[in-house]
Amino acid sequence: MTPKANSTLLDWARFYVHKKGYSVIPLIPRDKFPDATVLPDGPEGKPTWKPFETEKPTDANLVKWFSGYGRNRNIGIPGGQVSGLTFIDCDTPEAVERMNQEQPDTKGKVRTGKGLHLYCRFVPELRNMTKFLPGTDLKTEGGYVVAPPSIHPNGKRYECLGEPGSCFENLPGYIMQALKSAGMDKKLDPIIQSTGQKNNDPVIAFLKSIPIADVAARLGLEKGRGVNKYYCYNRHDKASASLALYPNTNSYYCFGCNEGGDVIELARRCRKATGGTI
Ligand SMILES: [Zn+2]
Repeated sequence: MTPKANSTLLDWARFYVHKKGYSVIPLIPRDKFPDATVLPDGPEGKPTWKPFETEKPTDANLVKWFSGYGRNRNIGIPGGQVSGLTFIDCDTPEAVERMNQEQPDTKGKVRTGKGLHLYCRFVPELRNMTKFLPGTDLKTEGGYVVAPPSIHPNGKRYECLGEPGSCFENLPGYIMQALKSAGMDKKLDPIIQSTGQKNNDPVIAFLKSIPIADVAARLGLEKGRGVNKYYCYNRHDKASASLALYPNTNSYYCFGCNEGGDVIELARRCRKATGGTI
């Protein structure tokens, strides 16, 4: 049964877990933090919500968390495999406006205290990321969102704009594009983590030997006309592509930015161009 405005918190929790197959966690009333007073102890003897990142709570958990005193708690939904969800969190008016322009449908949308959440089908390749676009975060495996009918610290209630518990099949195109430009792909992790290590590290040497065209493709750089020409990650290109790849030296150079480097530098600059870091 789909919960309504006057449904209890326990109704909502049961709906999320038993009908939608999502995991849930108890949060402090009118707050965004897990409520340690009812969570089990982790390996270090401290209360933790982590078990519910991989396993859904039982009905007994839900009754304990969300009835009696717990009826005033907030409710969180973990992202990732356990719920089959990846979330986009837009927390400025501009970010919300962009989302609504690109994705007018209300399916999977929740009004939050300051903006909007979009619930999407879990994308395993992605990781949690903040501000990969202005005012826009990604939450997935290891993260969670505050869900309806919770109350934001500012007093606003989280509300489903579409069908309660609904989720979108795919991330909106502009989000995918921004994530690709940010090098958001687990297979890029070794490159991302290598920066800052010594240059004589054999792992760095190996990474630098990855064909730069493969790295450019993985980063989502758009191919231009002409051999080894690409549109720059800084998006200054209009008529022609100004970023050139040099397979012989496995390096690149942008004639618009007057900068270049190896594969690691290319990944780092691409990420930086969309507000991320490597
Ligand atoms: Zn450039």
